Amino acid sequence: MEFDLIRKYFSEPFSALALSNQSRVLLGIGDDCAVIKPIPDQHLYISTDTSVAGVHFFEDEDPWSIGWKSLAVNLSDLAASGARPLAFTLNLSLPRVDQTWLAGFSQGLLKQAELANCPLVGGDTTSSRPDSPLVISITVFGERHSQSNSLTRSAAHLGDQIWVTGIPGLARLGLLQRYEQLGRLHTLLDQPKQALFQQTWASLPIPLQQLALTRLTRPVVRSHFGLQASPWMHAVLDLSDGLSGDLQHIAQASQKTLVLHTSSLQAMWTGALGSNQVESNPSILNFLLETSIVGGDDYELCFTAAPSNADSLMDLANSMQVPLSVLGLVRATESLQHGVVIESANGQQTALRSNSFNHFAP
Ligand code: ADP
Ligand code: MG
Repeated sequence: MEFDLIRKYFSEPFSALALSNQSRVLLGIGDDCAVIKPIPDQHLYISTDTSVAGVHFFEDEDPWSIGWKSLAVNLSDLAASGARPLAFTLNLSLPRVDQTWLAGFSQGLLKQAELANCPLVGGDTTSSRPDSPLVISITVFGERHSQSNSLTRSAAHLGDQIWVTGIPGLARLGLLQRYEQLGRLHTLLDQPKQALFQQTWASLPIPLQQLALTRLTRPVVRSHFGLQASPWMHAVLDLSDGLSGDLQHIAQASQKTLVLHTSSLQAMWTGALGSNQVESNPSILNFLLETSIVGGDDYELCFTAAPSNADSLMDLANSMQVPLSVLGLVRATESLQHGVVIESANGQQTALRSNSFNHFAP
């Protein structure tokens, strides 16, 4: 049974991708080990992520999206390291065998694997107790030239600009809307914020609403941009916990203060909204800014780079049709407390604590 299942949903659908990568993947699914041929002068990059039903995705989420996102979140870590995808493994722990679910999951996973040209080379499939949640664990392998510049979180330089792809916060807006539909918004927001969210959502153009919902379930991995922009990047990470939480990692590791400018965040949103309708409503704009800061689950790239590379980065992003914004800059820490601050147009600074957001003046 288990072998049939692996053949039907994993070895067969992924066989063409394995074949087109056979010069590197010498042996894939079906034996004791997969065999990958290393390239001299390349370093191997490894990242793993686990998704649990009911925790990382809604249990009734469509399986195609679950397959897509499970691999996307892993590929996003490779993108944030400037590494080219090489292969991945898949561990599934299934409380029951649901053929329809497996077929959808396999197709979504395959689509993402094809986009990244990343073959599935093995895994493990186990059955768990019927009352336990479905668990998906993926490990990706990637490679990057050993002489390449370091893109670690400790690599931010003084005077660097802080950049972000896409619109951080969109996935959280999608999540809030899903909770609203389920009648569970009160579990995420207090009463006044619930009303503010409803008002904000209603004021978003329909395409942006759709983007927010798909960003949550089918995030886009900025692989190609990450690879091509990597020579100009210093510290890089992919946004999974929101700007305030993730930028803390760069601030701590690089021992710097990261300053976000309210005006830049506003410009990013007004650009996305395509009109000035929201500018006339400060409470909505403030809610959008706050959502960008607490965010989560966006899988956009956030990085620092020298101002002298700003034009090159913008040109590359435009040529790849990747939205790209400058949000702030890297400063020396004055009080020995490395961290993230937000600065308003009048120069007033507010410290952002990890993953928390208190009101700041628009
Ligand atoms: P073993 O007994 O050596 O652990 P398994 O019976 O678990 O082998 O798996 C048989 C083959 O199928 C192995 O090559 C394994 O890598 C592959 N495999 C098992 N589960 C999956 C999966 N979910 N996705 C991809 N390959 C899998
Ligand atoms: Mg096994």
